[in-house]
Amino acid sequence: MQALMMNSQLMISSILKHAEKNFPDVEMVSVTVDNPRHRQNNRQFARRCRQLANVLKRLGAKFGDRIGTLAWNDYRHMELYYAVSGSGMVCHTINPRLFPEQVAYIINHAEDRIMFVDALVLPLVEALKEHLPKLETVVVLTDRAHMPESKLPGLLCYEELLAAESDEFDWPEFDENTASGLCYTSGTTGNPKGVVYSHRSTILHALAGSLPDVTGASNLETSLPVVPMFHVNAWGAPYAAMMVGTKLVLPGPKMADGETLTDLINSEQVTVASGVPTIWLALLDYLSANKMTVPTLARASVGGAACPRIIVERFRNEHDCTVVQGWGMTETSPLGTVFCLKKGMENLTTEEVTDLQCLQGRGVFGIEMCIVDENNEELPWDGKAFGALKVRGPWVTRGYYGLSDVPGDEDCPVDEKGWFQTGDVASITPEGFLKITDRTKDVIKSGGEWISSIEIENAAVNHPDIAEAAVIGRYHPKWTERPLLIVVTSAGKTLGREDVLGFLQDKLHKMAMPDDVVFLDELPHTATGKINKLGLREIFADYEFPAA
Ligand code: ADP
Repeated sequence: MQALMMNSQLMISSILKHAEKNFPDVEMVSVTVDNPRHRQNNRQFARRCRQLANVLKRLGAKFGDRIGTLAWNDYRHMELYYAVSGSGMVCHTINPRLFPEQVAYIINHAEDRIMFVDALVLPLVEALKEHLPKLETVVVLTDRAHMPESKLPGLLCYEELLAAESDEFDWPEFDENTASGLCYTSGTTGNPKGVVYSHRSTILHALAGSLPDVTGASNLETSLPVVPMFHVNAWGAPYAAMMVGTKLVLPGPKMADGETLTDLINSEQVTVASGVPTIWLALLDYLSANKMTVPTLARASVGGAACPRIIVERFRNEHDCTVVQGWGMTETSPLGTVFCLKKGMENLTTEEVTDLQCLQGRGVFGIEMCIVDENNEELPWDGKAFGALKVRGPWVTRGYYGLSDVPGDEDCPVDEKGWFQTGDVASITPEGFLKITDRTKDVIKSGGEWISSIEIENAAVNHPDIAEAAVIGRYHPKWTERPLLIVVTSAGKTLGREDVLGFLQDKLHKMAMPDDVVFLDELPHTATGKINKLGLREIFADYEFPAA
């Protein structure tokens, strides 16, 4: 028997319509190159999105076309998110921090004909233009007064295009499984791979992300996404915020600037903020160096890489702010697991709660997860057994753009049973808290045992004089592989091998104690700010452990 419910398609444009009707006066504050504090409300935002949809039509964009963006977190990028997807095109966000060859590869692979580019990133497009045969139109995200000098012919000005269009536009309704967004993984090996989001996956992801136990997004909150809009849709904040009427504060190109972030948090009374660990470490250092606090900030979401304990402790002790760690990937939209205490945990000590905050969080409805051993046998959720992590659900990818989506095929990330293979190694506690032990390729296989590089790194960065630490496995004649710890000391501090080993002595079990510690001035990073272990393996290709 068929149900009698309306088969309304889940459309991204419906979020915009809802926000305009229900939260017309909610503000969106942005930092841009041409304005350090731009403000508009949702009424103005929705009107500009309709004008932009008319611009896209005039530029000749067709249903299904990929429209490239090279932009920071600001209101114009938000307008592109809604107008491009809302009119049936694919919003293709590109990370300007990738290597130029990767950016060119991505633009060509996606066949972007039209691109919207921040003035600061224009030199990158100029440099690459001759390698981008399909690119026809470049629109600079600024007004006429701030149009940069450029040798690119026919550059268009965003505000001029908008001003020339009507603000009337009827958002079309179409199949909710239509592609709405495209984001390439940075890929430390091989070419970047495109993840294609749909209207349906985006809306379900935003709904799940707004649940009280997930981010608790609401009209009462003010949110500062420091995670870039060019990386996994800023973890879905642009959609969830408009859905529930959260005020958005967007830091533009100033994402790594402690002073701007502090000023935005305090002057706009930001209550929740999201970003990768490095951003938070930098902000915490800025705040303590300047003897400042962020009294309104109640929650800081951390993801993208394991959150060092020190971040949890400093946010709590210095700013009375709760760190909410989550795990996810570009391929999972990215929401997978998020920290939240369960009933019965009310009486845990601060230390015990911190222990849980340092795990990767609990499963969110919509994401099924399991861990398996080498024989693909499912492992128990006992907090001890660890193996390859697999997930599935309506906002998990089933293939990469232009590659096979047949489960089990070599270039399809989904196995025969329909599980997405994350490439992460994890254990899961009986309460359902995920603990990422490592990337499959980074785990150190020492004798028959697996050692987590992340565990050693986390222990090391808790040393007050260590700014950054990374662990890679290196050949060992007896154990096959042993951990080598690579350390960057904080500015002006010096440490020796024995200082570091002494510090770790009571924090790691014997097998996990690194066999050596070496020091570098800086570590190589990927475009998304993660430590580039492949680069480190190259640097230490000929390294040999000292004889015992
Ligand atoms: P990229 O592919 O550009 O590196 P992703 O965000 O897709 O960016 O990376 C996803 C990976 O990041 C995960 O598979 C996992 O290894 C790591 N990761 C994400 N969140 C966490 C976390 N909270 N703790 C540990 N690792 C994490």
